[in-house]
Amino acid sequence: MEQIPAFFKTQPLVSALLLKSVKHGRLAHAYLFEGDRGTGKDQAALWLAKEIFCQQKINDQPCNVCNNCTRIDEGIHPDVLVVEPDGQTIKVDQIRELQTEFSKSGFEGQHKVFILKDAEKMNLSAANSLLKFLEEPAGGFLAILETTALARILPTIQSRCQILHFQSLSKKVLQEKLQAQGIGKQSAALLTDLTNSYDKAVEISQDEWFNEAKESMTQWFNYLKNRDLQSFIYVQKKLLTIFKEKNQQQQGLSILLHFYQGYLKEAVKQGLPQKIADINQQIQLILTAEQKLGANVSFQNVCEQLALKITAETLKKNL
Ligand SMILES: [Zn+2]
Repeated sequence: MEQIPAFFKTQPLVSALLLKSVKHGRLAHAYLFEGDRGTGKDQAALWLAKEIFCQQKINDQPCNVCNNCTRIDEGIHPDVLVVEPDGQTIKVDQIRELQTEFSKSGFEGQHKVFILKDAEKMNLSAANSLLKFLEEPAGGFLAILETTALARILPTIQSRCQILHFQSLSKKVLQEKLQAQGIGKQSAALLTDLTNSYDKAVEISQDEWFNEAKESMTQWFNYLKNRDLQSFIYVQKKLLTIFKEKNQQQQGLSILLHFYQGYLKEAVKQGLPQKIADINQQIQLILTAEQKLGANVSFQNVCEQLALKITAETLKKNL
């Protein structure tokens, strides 16, 4: 059962490099996998362990069915150890335990692999203990450190490792992953416009504020696209009560822009040139509003001006 793992598609550079190193027997003693959560670091670490231990590789890929592959997947292979934070930190005892295990020769062969997740959570004594370990690499021994925060890994440890950068997910892949987490399609699409970090997207989606933000922006969008004069009053009546912090205000305009882009797509599909031109013009106004907010014009000012400009024609008619 040959299976190309998903991270080959999402991390072409990393997977090509690792595959080449495996093929030529030129693996480093220690790797540091760096990148956001959800970018495939865990999967890549297990894949690499299977590459080393698989008894019947197919086209250079682990078979995923042999005794070694299945034990690695289940986390019970005696020569593949996975260390995760115990609570908020990785403690020195956890690293010492690892060293004791590794001072014995391989249980079943000459290779040993250890995978250290959330390596930035090592406390200082754990990090120093690991450093000694990395300074005296034994043959057939492979360390894989994973981190979402490279800057918090001691430079001395970084310099002992080959650092592989896992790219942030493309919008499409990120949206699929969010939907797989049970987040609705529309929210998932919106989240990918707000951030390209899986972690951040999940965090935003779990924030109660996000639902309020989405609802109020939906309402404002409906007023704006109908050039309804309510859109002006709504700024003070509602938006100011929800978008208080600067970063919330920036996200608010991003949410609005997201709705407008969906609206534009629809108009393009329907082939309505006048409508397309109108929407493009309004999108331009939102982009300008974003710039003004960035230049420290107040959110209220920016939004009220936006509402005035978009409803200008309606105003003229009513005069
Ligand atoms: Zn196998």
